[in-house]
Amino acid sequence: MKQRPDGTLEFEPRACLACHGQTTVPGRQACPSCGGSGNGPRGGKGKCKACYGFGQEPDFAHPVPCVPCEGAGRVMETEGDTLPREIWETLPLRVYRVEREQTWNEAYLGMGCIYSVTDYGSAWSADDDNRLLAMVRETAHLPQVCQVYAEGRPCQHVAIVVTRDGYAVKVGWAGSGDVTRDGVTERALAR
Ligand SMILES: [Zn+2]
Ligand SMILES: [Zn+2]
Repeated sequence: MKQRPDGTLEFEPRACLACHGQTTVPGRQACPSCGGSGNGPRGGKGKCKACYGFGQEPDFAHPVPCVPCEGAGRVMETEGDTLPREIWETLPLRVYRVEREQTWNEAYLGMGCIYSVTDYGSAWSADDDNRLLAMVRETAHLPQVCQVYAEGRPCQHVAIVVTRDGYAVKVGWAGSGDVTRDGVTERALAR
């Protein structure tokens, strides 16, 4: 996908993940161990160890058209796809430091949280916002498009909320006030 100059996204076709662009997937045949019942050798329901109780196994000799891409091998990107790194790098990052513990919402990835880290105070005591910004910028935890885009528009910024026991990477929407609700004061602004 590409980002247009106005910030909106242009989705493009990509390889289908179900068939890896191959257009077909293996067919299915009855499991030879249980004859398709899924039951174990002594009749235990769903206890066949060969097919884990499904009663079927892949038939590589007889491929069938892939359903998600309807045999095309390619599908359009969607908002459920991972945001490309080059677009992630265009989102502004901000560090907020709040003297409290992580909230339940932050620790268990609730509303607006992309990911959170429990570091027992490392980020808090290091007091090095630039290093933290670089770490989050280079993160492997890239969000799904729908986490940072709403109605085709990117979020205003990504907030790194540092607390006494860790930090949460959250989405800041213009006017939502969700990252300033707890009396958060902004310490650093990157880009
Ligand atoms: Zn496919
Ligand atoms: Zn079986």
